Amino acid sequence: MILQCCQLFSSQVAQECLPAHHIGPAANIWSHLLGALWFLLSSLQYLQYQRLIRNVSFGDGLALGVYYLVVIVCFALSTFFHTFSDHSPGMHKFGNELDHLGIVLVLWGTGVSGAHFAFNCHQGLETAYVGFLSATAFGCGVFTLRPKFRQPAYRTTRFLLYLFLGASLFAPIAHGLAVYGYPILNNMMGLESFLGLAAINFSGSAVYAARIPDRRFPGTFDYIGQSHNLMHVLVLTGALVRVQGLLGVLEYWQGPSGKEVDAWVMEKKDFY
Ligand SMILES: [Zn+2]
Repeated sequence: MILQCCQLFSSQVAQECLPAHHIGPAANIWSHLLGALWFLLSSLQYLQYQRLIRNVSFGDGLALGVYYLVVIVCFALSTFFHTFSDHSPGMHKFGNELDHLGIVLVLWGTGVSGAHFAFNCHQGLETAYVGFLSATAFGCGVFTLRPKFRQPAYRTTRFLLYLFLGASLFAPIAHGLAVYGYPILNNMMGLESFLGLAAINFSGSAVYAARIPDRRFPGTFDYIGQSHNLMHVLVLTGALVRVQGLLGVLEYWQGPSGKEVDAWVMEKKDFY
């Protein structure tokens, strides 16, 4: 009887205190808050992994560290936005800018870590791609934060700049494929996990843009399972796939095969 009363009370509380339009955002908050915490714990675990730390080069460790950091910051900014978006119009706008800045940051970090491992044996090309990605990401950051560029007149320029940043992530990949071929590049930079991340994120963006399934079934997915929730889960899944790939890449570069590629590339320097 007491249990039934408690269940009745808790369901009433849930109905009164948590209307549908609050539960959807709650799923958005928790998905990225738990994601940020998972990546934070995983990065600390990585730091404690003494054997890996001893053998790994500074550049490789830094590239992985950059990826961990941008994912944690991106998820934290997204959590902030979804937590405070209903506070006031000003807070919604500010949080939205930070949310977009997090996307720019994670795109930059994904590109930089990918370019590092793709051209691990060619410092000049790595520096060129990191510089190129950083300049593009900086431009996107300025367009995200400066009020002048948020006006409708700059909508197309803004969209093109984001598109250009997304596309520029593939420039070192295409170059690396031309130089090394698929199997070697896959070992060197975890190409499969990179492409997996791209495919999962593209699916997430498509689901979000098409508002699947909430547009077809209005009201059905107000509590959970709406397009924004699905996009968050897909983005988290993509980041998990990529970080597993990067951890495999680090192990590869520590092993003898990584050193063999290094020597092979040194011989082929004229090829570039
Ligand atoms: Zn979101």
